[in-house]
Amino acid sequence: MTELCDLPASDLSAKLASREISAAELTASSLARIEAVDPQIGAFLTPTPELARERAAELESYLGSGAPQTGAAGIPTALKDVLTTNGIRTTCGSKILETYVPPYDATAWARLSGAGAVLAGKTNCDEFAMGSSNENSAFGPVRNPWDLDRVPGGSSGGSAAAVSAGEVVWALGTDTGGSVRQPASLCGVVGLKPTYGRISRYGLIAFASSLDTVGTFTRNVRDAATLLGVLAGHDPRDATSLDVPVDDYVHGLDAGVANLRVGVVDGTFGDGVHTGVQDAMRVAIERLTALGAEVGEVSLPHADYALSAYYLIAPSEASSNLARYDGVRYGSRADGDHADVIDMMTKTRGQGFGPEVKRRIMLGTYALSAGYYEAYYGQAQKVRTLIIRDYEAAFERFDILVSPTSPTTAFRIGERADDPFAMYLSDVFTIPANLAGVPAVSLPVGLDGDGLPVGLQLTAPLLGEASLLRAASALEADLGLELRPPVLEGV
Ligand code: GLN
Repeated sequence: MTELCDLPASDLSAKLASREISAAELTASSLARIEAVDPQIGAFLTPTPELARERAAELESYLGSGAPQTGAAGIPTALKDVLTTNGIRTTCGSKILETYVPPYDATAWARLSGAGAVLAGKTNCDEFAMGSSNENSAFGPVRNPWDLDRVPGGSSGGSAAAVSAGEVVWALGTDTGGSVRQPASLCGVVGLKPTYGRISRYGLIAFASSLDTVGTFTRNVRDAATLLGVLAGHDPRDATSLDVPVDDYVHGLDAGVANLRVGVVDGTFGDGVHTGVQDAMRVAIERLTALGAEVGEVSLPHADYALSAYYLIAPSEASSNLARYDGVRYGSRADGDHADVIDMMTKTRGQGFGPEVKRRIMLGTYALSAGYYEAYYGQAQKVRTLIIRDYEAAFERFDILVSPTSPTTAFRIGERADDPFAMYLSDVFTIPANLAGVPAVSLPVGLDGDGLPVGLQLTAPLLGEASLLRAASALEADLGLELRPPVLEGV
């Protein structure tokens, strides 16, 4: 049965404003859903039901009183557990931060909380956001609401699954190489990675600082626009946050795609792309043409090197960022007696980090070492520049680019766990946008032969979120998909 928690925020906000529903009822609906399905899905690491009820009660006298109301007020929300929350444990999916309680809020959450959002809890993710399946979490996997034997994608798997199953109305994740878009695609929800710097990174526990971006999971494009409007903007606490005006992303959402120049990215129908994904791409591209878009082909000639460049740049930055978990400055310390400080740090890090994090630290340390720096890190940065130029050239001819978000739909738990390279390939289509900093969104466009959701990625030039969301909204309206994952049958 459709419950309040299954509706998009845009509908709920109107109902709250007219007092047709109360924030307490809406929160209760979301908490009941978490209780009903989360034992199977495992999206939450730290649910916060008491806090949610308290916040809903606080909103009671305000919502519907006629006072100005933001689109986020009263909306049940989840946060990936890499975003700090004052007084609420924040683990990054890692043993090393299992008991870490931050003394401050990430700016993204501070803004959302200030706008009246209701926090339902912190969601599971790959350890330090490294992964594409959520299997690298120290606290166990998350299961995909469309098929409990399959992964939800990663690294923001918990947030994607929570929105897909209606546990919350929307959620935040982070996207360093695809970690919002890929799980959104695998779980059948809308996943937006804005322009690098559009949303503050303050309080986003760093993985690869030059790539990390806060992003959103929503049921529809309108909610992504609303949420971005709340989150975006300059933050003096993040030196990389952009000091440029924030557009009105909701206004103009229905303007359509007539005459919009859409470039289909080379590789969309390539060998590694599953048939079900290719079929859904074909239908979506036909619909864009029917809606009046001018569709052509475009190639990003250096995108073939994006994965290699990413797996040098991201681990290099990670090896430096993760040096702070040394048993002194942050995180837990290994128990027992230690011969000296090196012994203590070695044991702490040896026990605290999982295999994928260790692999990345080793890769990054190696790539940055004297003698290899130019050959690896330096080369990768040059490739990054070439990819930025590829996008610049592509956007001279096209307004929006389209491709699959992921070459496959959700894969089985365990299927790629022992093959890091196969796992890394999950992000071939998403990583180039992180390297260039451009905004991209994953939109559900259909189901494959196994009944699993397929996501289409749209990419726009820097700060082109308004036209990106407009194009996504036009396609969404035209396709009119009603997606309800099988886990909700009988719920
Ligand atoms: N899957 C990619 C990785 O493992 C991207 C992760 C992310 O975007 N945080 O690094």
